[in-house]
Formats: sequence, structure tokens, C-alpha cells
Amino acid sequence: MLRPAISCLILLLLKMHVTLAKDEVDSDEELDAEQIGGYFQGDMLMTSWQRSGLRNGSYRWPNATVYYKINSSLDEAHTDFIMRAMYLIENSSCIKFEEATDKQPYFINITNDKHGCFAHVGYLGKVQEFNIEYAPLGKRCFRLGTIVHEMLHSLGFYHQHASAGRDAYIRIIDRNIKKHLMDNFKKQSNKTVHDFGKGYDFNSIMHYRMDAFNKFKHGLTMIPLQPGAKNMGQRIAMSDTDISKLNAMYNCTVQQTESTTNLPVSDKI
Ligand SMILES: [Zn+2]
Repeated sequence: MLRPAISCLILLLLKMHVTLAKDEVDSDEELDAEQIGGYFQGDMLMTSWQRSGLRNGSYRWPNATVYYKINSSLDEAHTDFIMRAMYLIENSSCIKFEEATDKQPYFINITNDKHGCFAHVGYLGKVQEFNIEYAPLGKRCFRLGTIVHEMLHSLGFYHQHASAGRDAYIRIIDRNIKKHLMDNFKKQSNKTVHDFGKGYDFNSIMHYRMDAFNKFKHGLTMIPLQPGAKNMGQRIAMSDTDISKLNAMYNCTVQQTESTTNLPVSDKI
């Protein structure tokens, strides 16, 4: 017979699972927050030289340190929520987030007053935009998983479904995609992006859902061609492969042992 403490733990885990499952089947509005900004692939701010093939190393943050400023008009709870997203990344890698002083020449400027959630891709050596439209905690751009997703853009991640080798893993269904949104499925060049030998990851927090940018409700725009895609488009947590890629990208010598898969990013505060 189970001891009371173990029974409580199991109940807690079951409760957590229910919470996460509910998050996964939340409304479209909740899940597609990164698609609403209208930027390249929904939420990426790109410069012409980035589109034409920047070498990877030059857009990594020096010393794996990301400087930031958070809009001072944000209340304490929202500010803490953003910092929690930073903590999740710090806890899984050698990345450090540091608040920018007035003299800091480059940093991500975290705002909440524009429409949508979006970020520049990688380090630009100047003040770079990072917007998460104001919403109640846990909703739309203020889902923790969405903030982590945007931060991974700032660190240099592109969308998984746009990787050069994606056609072996997903089939793009053109007829179900809104014509003016076809760019969201444009593949990145091998010269711009590589996977650090970690392979395609259906479970990446940087993958979009099967129905992203669809023309018809419930119309699929991406169909997986291989098994393992059950959680495609999840914003629950960085996958183990996301963490592994981040550590490889920044040459982290010691990967943190505590995986964020144990720290659900879309859970309530
Ligand atoms: Zn994105």
C-alpha cells in the first residue's frame, strides 16, 4: 500500500498533468500568440543581411550574457514573470541575463505596448526590440512558454519547421495556407542555420503547430512524416533537444543537469 506522502506526490503529479493538458488544448488565441504580430514567420524581426546568410557565430551574445531592460511601466507580477522565463533559460544553460545599465550599448529592450509578440533573431550589437503585448499572466504573449520562445529567438534560434532539412520531417500543405502568409513556411538556408548535430525536433518550443497560419479552421498546414510529433507546437517547456542546441550554440562547457522539462513553463505562477 502506498504511503500517504507518496500518494500525495502522485496526486500532485496527476494534477500538474491535468493543468498542462488543459494548456495544450487551450483556445487558438492562447496558442498562436506568436503568429499575430505579422512579422517574418509571425514573430521574427529580420534584417536584410540576416536573410541573406549570416554566419552563426557572429550573432551569439558575447560571453553568453544577454543584457535587458524591462519597460518600467509593467507591474511587478508581469516583470517577475518575464524574469522567470530568463531563469528557466539560465537554469538550463550557461546563458546569463543581466539588467542593462544606462551605459550598456547593447541589450534587448523588453516592451509590451506594441501588437503581438516578436523579437530580433540573435545578437545585433545594439538595442534590439523584444515585444510581448500586454495580457493577463499565462495568456497570449504572456504565456511563459511564449516568452521563452521569443527569448530563444533573441539568443539566435529560428523556427524549427523552417529548417533547411524539414521536408524529410513535415509536409507543407500549401492549399491550406493563407496566400499572404506563405512566407511563414520559407526554409532557412543551411548557411544561416544549422542544428548543431542535434537533428530535427518535433517537440521543440520553436516548432509551430500543425495548423499554424491556416486558411480554414482546423485545416492542417504541416503534416508530420515521421513518428514522434504528438506534441508539435507545444509551449510547455524547452525540449531536451532545445536545451542541448542552446548549450552547443553557446559552447557551454557544463550543461545544467536540471532539465526545464521538469519546470513547466506554461504553468500558472
Ligand atoms: Zn517565433
